[in-house]
Amino acid sequence: MGSVKDYFSSFTTGFISLVKGMAVTGKEFVTPKLTEEYPDNRKEGVAADRFRAALTLKYDEEGRHKCIACGICQRNCPNGSIEIVKRVVTTPDGKKKQKLDRYVYNIGSCTFCRLCVTSCPQDALEFSNDFEQAVFTRDKLFKQLNYLPEKDEPMPEPKPAVEVAAKPAPQVEAPAADKPDIVAEIRQNFEKIDKINAARKPGQPDAVAAKIQEKVDALQQKIDQIVAAASADERKAIAAEWPQLVPAAAPAEAAPEAPAESEIVAEIGENAAKLAKLQKADLSTLPAPAAAKLKEKVDALKVKINELMAKASADELAQIKAKFPDIAPEAENKN
Ligand code: SF4
Ligand code: SF4
Repeated sequence: MGSVKDYFSSFTTGFISLVKGMAVTGKEFVTPKLTEEYPDNRKEGVAADRFRAALTLKYDEEGRHKCIACGICQRNCPNGSIEIVKRVVTTPDGKKKQKLDRYVYNIGSCTFCRLCVTSCPQDALEFSNDFEQAVFTRDKLFKQLNYLPEKDEPMPEPKPAVEVAAKPAPQVEAPAADKPDIVAEIRQNFEKIDKINAARKPGQPDAVAAKIQEKVDALQQKIDQIVAAASADERKAIAAEWPQLVPAAAPAEAAPEAPAESEIVAEIGENAAKLAKLQKADLSTLPAPAAAKLKEKVDALKVKINELMAKASADELAQIKAKFPDIAPEAENKN
């Protein structure tokens, strides 16, 4: 009798369970579907706007990107997924300028941390949400981000206008608008360097000292970039406060008599300014590895200056002697 009762009891439980299951199924049968109909709907934007699919350079409507090949993104990438290949070009106004040659991005090793995007001072990078990045071979994971043909630099049209305007007005009006910004920016960076340098202590762990040096180098590099991008008037304003930053601009008042400065003299000037900056550091306060690194940089700059002097003509050596008496004895030795 007991087994018959058990039979009907389990039959009832099973039937109730079946009805519950069918109720769920029936409910889902009439509920609107949320399934993505990929790939039919790929044009409608399947990925969210903030999805990080692949690093790209931002291009404006004229097909120009804003990358200045400073290499900050490359240094900040924890995975070495970025390689910046740069080249130096001479602009129509005779200045030397660093330009991006190739921006190589390896999506295969990228972890999409976005450090490169946030550290870029030019706001030149962004992540696209083009998520279809599957390829058949690994070499296709290396992408050249500056894929559009290089556009010519917009010509600095105001050249004649500025010269005409600069002569009657005694240098003050045109630069006055720009001067405070660029000069203040450089001053801020120097103040930051002073603050960071104040944190140096004898006997500091090497890692701390190296980090401090790294920050100082980054700030000095930033200052160099600001100076490199400065206009002629801005360079005058900078030279008035920090002649060592714009060695070529210092003797501007003697310009009528002095011969035009050649590329070699300008390059020696830049290197001499860097050398002077590095030589200001007190090696005795630095830990041995940091001091060695600094000395290495100083030696490399001296070698570079000597190489440039070896290429200089007699006139150029005379200019170097006049402008940089500290390094002139070496010029004479070369003669
Ligand atoms: S940090 Fe920005 S400007 Fe500098 S190299 Fe990278 S993308 Fe170019
Ligand atoms: S997202 Fe991160 S890992 Fe990827 S390239 Fe940028 S810094 Fe490197």
